[in-house]
Formats: sequence, structure tokens, C-alpha cells
Amino acid sequence: MNPKCAFCGRFVSWKADQATYYGSVTDCEPPDPHYFCDRCADESKLEQLSKGRPYQAYWLEPDWNREVADELGFVKEDYRWVRKDAK
Ligand SMILES: [Zn+2]
Repeated sequence: MNPKCAFCGRFVSWKADQATYYGSVTDCEPPDPHYFCDRCADESKLEQLSKGRPYQAYWLEPDWNREVADELGFVKEDYRWVRKDAK
């Protein structure tokens, strides 16, 4: 069975955009990836662009968040997004 979009619940393909959150210390297995359908990935990207920074809570980044970071000039450093010009 195909995975579902984490936001709207529509079925997506295994190749759909996906992200993995940081797990907690009590997890004995890595957290499951969250999938995004194209529409929710676009909406998430626009919402995050409006906030002026990429979403910080992902361990494995979805493509849409990487695009947000690219467009806003952020780079990943020590597991956090930092502004390129802040260095
Ligand atoms: Zn969706």
C-alpha cells in the first residue's frame, strides 16, 4: 500500500517528497518518514517562504524545505539552517 500525505491524507507514491523529524531519545527505531503530496509540498514551501526561514525540525529534509533554504540563502550547518551571510 502506498504511503499517505502527512497533511491531507491523500495517497502518494513512494517517491513523493518526504521528510523525517528528529526522533526522541526514547525511540528505539528511527522515526518514520512523513510524505507530502505535490499540493501540500507547494503549500508548505509557500508558507515557510513567508516566514523567511526554512523549517528547522527536520532531520532528513524534504525537497520543498531545501528549496526554501536555497531561495532564502540558508545553508545547513551542525544540523541547523543558518543564513549564508551570517558567517
Ligand atoms: Zn497532501
